[in-house]
Amino acid sequence: MIEVIILGSGTGVPYYPRNSSGYCIKINDTPLLFDMGAGIVRRMLEAGIDYKTTEHLFISHRHPDHTSDLIPFFFAMNYTPQYKRTTPFYLYGPDGFPEIMKKMMDIYPWMLPRHFHLEMKEMAKKTEVSGESWMVRSQPVIHGDVTAVSYRIETQGKVIAYSGDSGYCDSLIENAKDADLLIIECSFPSRLELKGVHLNTREVAEVASKAGAKKLILTHLYPFCDEEPILEEIRENFKGEVQKGEDLMKVNL
Ligand SMILES: [Zn+2]
Ligand SMILES: [Zn+2]
Repeated sequence: MIEVIILGSGTGVPYYPRNSSGYCIKINDTPLLFDMGAGIVRRMLEAGIDYKTTEHLFISHRHPDHTSDLIPFFFAMNYTPQYKRTTPFYLYGPDGFPEIMKKMMDIYPWMLPRHFHLEMKEMAKKTEVSGESWMVRSQPVIHGDVTAVSYRIETQGKVIAYSGDSGYCDSLIENAKDADLLIIECSFPSRLELKGVHLNTREVAEVASKAGAKKLILTHLYPFCDEEPILEEIRENFKGEVQKGEDLMKVNL
């Protein structure tokens, strides 16, 4: 069983319907978490994902809309009364991410694991990690001046790709090659663009078509995306299935 849960389909702009970034891919009973933007800990609760049983979190880059709930997340793992976490936790992030965590923990020492082992792994270039029935591979992408990666998840003969935040680049296409599901950032309608930082609908369609992705879920949607015909714009140049991500939406593969 593969279940994809969109926890946050929004950005750093406060917007009631769309939380900052976060995703969960449940493989049988194993939840793999991707990004931890502000409000994701609460969204996990709403989606029925227990922070006590999660063990794997993949961070795409260090912008606050993808990382700021790391603080309450680690605080809860350490200081929930009558609960002592002893199972290890695995945190994956782009090049330099362990150093960022160290700095966060200097400011918030309550994040330092009390009774469990925290294993941090840099997913610098193309790095693979795997579990019982899954494999996740990182792929560096361009995102302004911030080190960022996209992720490719392979499990049970299916491929799910997650763009993270990215401008248009060949490595994003490579990451999404022949994906059954591509969760892709779509920050802007076609009338706007921010080259090398985010994607607009025209670029999303081009990435998806060149990659041969079968199905798209659009995410990282700024509020104005809900006022504009972004699906139609993508359908002009992409013939596969496409839908807008919504918070707490679940997709089975
Ligand atoms: Zn973002
Ligand atoms: Zn970003």
